[in-house]
Amino acid sequence: MTTDKPIKNIAVIGATGSIGTQTLDIAARHPGLYRPVALTAGSRVDELVRLARIHRPRLAVIADESRYRDLCRELEPLGIECAAGADAIAEAAALPEVDMTVTATVGYSGLLPTVKAIEAGKEIALANKETLVVAGAFIEQLLAESPSKIYPVDSEHSAIYQCLKGEDPSAVSRLYITASGGPFRTWQRERIASAKASDALKHPNWSMGAKITIDSATMMNKAFELIEARWLFGIDASRLSAVVHPQSIVHSMVEFSDGGIKAQLGVPDMHLPIAYALGCATRLPGAERPLSLADLSELTFEKPDAERFPCLTLADVALRRGGNSACVINAANEIAVAAYLRDRIGFYDIYRIICETLDRCDFIASPGLSDYIQTNQTAREIAGSLL
Ligand code: NAD
Ligand code: MG
Repeated sequence: MTTDKPIKNIAVIGATGSIGTQTLDIAARHPGLYRPVALTAGSRVDELVRLARIHRPRLAVIADESRYRDLCRELEPLGIECAAGADAIAEAAALPEVDMTVTATVGYSGLLPTVKAIEAGKEIALANKETLVVAGAFIEQLLAESPSKIYPVDSEHSAIYQCLKGEDPSAVSRLYITASGGPFRTWQRERIASAKASDALKHPNWSMGAKITIDSATMMNKAFELIEARWLFGIDASRLSAVVHPQSIVHSMVEFSDGGIKAQLGVPDMHLPIAYALGCATRLPGAERPLSLADLSELTFEKPDAERFPCLTLADVALRRGGNSACVINAANEIAVAAYLRDRIGFYDIYRIICETLDRCDFIASPGLSDYIQTNQTAREIAGSLL
């Protein structure tokens, strides 16, 4: 492909995960457009080494400090600088030579790298929705004081971004976030109650990391996406709706004041929203699997069922209460999901633990960064004691 665009240096935070590896695939297919300069990972040092050998960043960072020596032994002979720990990951997100930071780490660990990247004025391709869940109001304020801009990677938010392009924001009446409904969409409550993590990990349409796959089964993911949309698009919670669309072809929709609805469609494949964010809302050629409209026999929509999927109601709770509530919900969810993945608790214990943690945590109306850090810590301890 010929282009007059300068090459963009990217930092991939969470490079070894589902979004991270797909981001690196896209960068490798367009070497004239993207150069990975920093790769980070949680604890999978072998996978980080493998990716660094292929993509040759200047810096590789592992969160787990006990793996630092292994990383250095493998990569320093190749001239790749190595570092370890959460602070080093946050620094990697804000390196002077980085143009765009891709936040593809999971959970709360995305917050500090995103904050550093905004403070350093980077473009951000945001996959880590938990950043906006934990600290949406704080991030909104930081963005207002920075040249930094967020481009959503989450497929629903990318769809809305695409639908809003060229439109007058004051003509938007509602955002519809579509949901696949997850693996338990058609199950009765009693059967869901005894479902194991191995059942919940069988997502019908998307292949993703374990944590977001469980969040999809509980529909906590959809609650998080409603909160994410609140902060990304500056829209009041009363104008946000989730709608179940089991085919995952319509990625989300925008309704306008004249009653018209725009939707973005495509196969369920994260390459498109990742590439759209990498290009700062521009399109790359080379769709892997174009959607065959003639083969589509049905597109259906149904109301989500909050009785079987109570976590969905937590978006409303979080946005109504505000303050540090969503930070508490996120922390308790991370602890509960990790326990569910180890078969230590049942499916509906996830919701119970979140609600009980919310009841026991102190409410902070206008948290600053240190309050979010403290709330996350306290809520994790409380949720852990409730397992
Ligand atoms: P994943 O579990 O596959 O990968 C997570 C990455 O983060 C890995 O590189 C891992 O090493 C790293 N990591 C984990 N814990 C860490 C820690 N404490 N410190 C530093 N690094 C850590 O996750 P994923 O499915 O790629 O999801 C990443 C983010 O993107 C999540 O916020 C998820 O909600 C969001 N997202 C994912 C998808 C998808 O299709 N996978 C779609 C939309 C949004
Ligand atoms: Mg999504």
